[in-house]
Amino acid sequence: MAETRGNGPGGEPAAKRRCRRCLQEEFDQETYIRTLKEHIERTPARERTPEADYARRLETCKACNFLEAGTCMACGCYVELRAASRRGRCPYKKW
Ligand code: SF4
Repeated sequence: MAETRGNGPGGEPAAKRRCRRCLQEEFDQETYIRTLKEHIERTPARERTPEADYARRLETCKACNFLEAGTCMACGCYVELRAASRRGRCPYKKW
């Protein structure tokens, strides 16, 4: 019979993590921006879009009619997150 191990440091069951806030609408602007930057910084460098390309992608989004409050209304993504991923693509192939 296979031994079942948890995700804790010694293989014990990991403590269940509590979600402090689950809805973006509950984030104040400062928290939202900090969370966004932390997420991007945690992304491994090999998966992150080079800085110049990231800036160019966001400039394209800023000029696009689908952008509304940081969200692409064509696909529903947060453009700053999608643009930060090397594999991220614009649904209209603008970048
Ligand atoms: S991802 Fe593409 S369609 Fe969406 S806002 Fe950016 S440029 Fe526009």
